[in-house]
Amino acid sequence: MLLPMKAYRASILWFAPHSDGPVQALFEEDGLLVIGPNDSGTQVVQAIGAWRDLSPLYPQVTVEHWPGRIIAPGFVDLHVHFPQTNIIGSPADGLLPWLENYTFPEENRFAAPEYSAESARFFIAELLRNGVTTALAFATSHTESVNALLAQAQAQRLRMIAGLVLMDRHAPPELLNRGHGKISGTEQSLLDTEALIQRWHGKDRLGYAITPRFAPTSTDAQLQGAGELAARYSDVWIQSHVAENKDEIAWARQLFPRSRSYLATYDDFGLMRDRSIYAHCIHFDDDDRALMRDTGAAAGVSPTSNLFLGSGFFDYAGADRVGFKYGLASDVGGGTSFSPFHTMLAAYYVGREGQTKSGLSLKPQHLWWQHTAGAARALGLDGSAGQAAIGNLLPGCEADFVVLNPKATPLLARKTALASSLSELLFSMIVLGDDRLIEKTVISQAI
Ligand SMILES: [Zn+2]
Repeated sequence: MLLPMKAYRASILWFAPHSDGPVQALFEEDGLLVIGPNDSGTQVVQAIGAWRDLSPLYPQVTVEHWPGRIIAPGFVDLHVHFPQTNIIGSPADGLLPWLENYTFPEENRFAAPEYSAESARFFIAELLRNGVTTALAFATSHTESVNALLAQAQAQRLRMIAGLVLMDRHAPPELLNRGHGKISGTEQSLLDTEALIQRWHGKDRLGYAITPRFAPTSTDAQLQGAGELAARYSDVWIQSHVAENKDEIAWARQLFPRSRSYLATYDDFGLMRDRSIYAHCIHFDDDDRALMRDTGAAAGVSPTSNLFLGSGFFDYAGADRVGFKYGLASDVGGGTSFSPFHTMLAAYYVGREGQTKSGLSLKPQHLWWQHTAGAARALGLDGSAGQAAIGNLLPGCEADFVVLNPKATPLLARKTALASSLSELLFSMIVLGDDRLIEKTVISQAI
């Protein structure tokens, strides 16, 4: 049985194809979005444009009319820790004490499958409430946590990419990857990673990411093994952290003195390529930026987390000058919000900061793109090279979208009514928006 075609009439926001040059947001005041199954039965965008032009072409299709609402692509979160939902807003004296006092004790609870399953349900509900339709997520060092998250995402058809945290040193013993009999924790973690790739990667809308927590908590042997898996399974993702904090960098340099820089450590172990996403990428030099560009790696910019932990400011001008890919991420629980609006606003603050780097004013369209089509491009899910397309509403894109109510609060209603341009409208929502702005999150269905 085929899914029927459907159409939605409302204002619509989407983006011109990336190949058309700089970021260009498109907006149709009275638009029509037509969705229907593609050859493999997945709901994708069939047509998008002005209602008056498109509606005569689809006379048989039922139209749902949402006056006063805005349809926009579902948000893509490039870096989030599913087991850290409970530790949002935990007070700590910087990154390393925060890990020790809050993160590690909470993550240890995910060895229990019921605890993992309950957390996964809450986590996914929270993503959807905030309009996030794709996430690249860390689990914990327990396979139970990966299985719980991906099973729950599969049940809800959420596009989820996740992986087992690889950590075989420099963390509390109960959180290190565990061995069995003669098999060391390091070996077992790599066997588990491969088994999880085979179980989950490419199933429905799920993907697997090879997930070293960060270089200092893995031995050379573990990073080496992770790099070998990354070579063998070239379409799985890789995710980790880099250059977030100066203490962390000094530590990584001490542990891997032969690498040119902290970032280069990952490259030396074969962990930088297309589909590798590194959270933070703050304290870089131009050689690091060029390494990102040349390997195809992308940055998961995590501004609420960086401001919360006082880590530093992502250098947008530097990234654009050298030309590597990036997109936005909540980094919950270091990050302080699941809301893409809060993340976009924090990215604006980070861009403005001009004491440690050059300051600039990121355009509202560009902020929005970083959390949708730009993030999809960073993941290699922008439809090029035959991959699925998400994060946009061009024909062929999977039909993941949000319905925004720009009158969701009295102040939003007052402010958005005054907007005389697309920039003003989008910026009002970025500055004043939160989960109340998301009236509905729609996930692409399949037969
Ligand atoms: Zn993180």
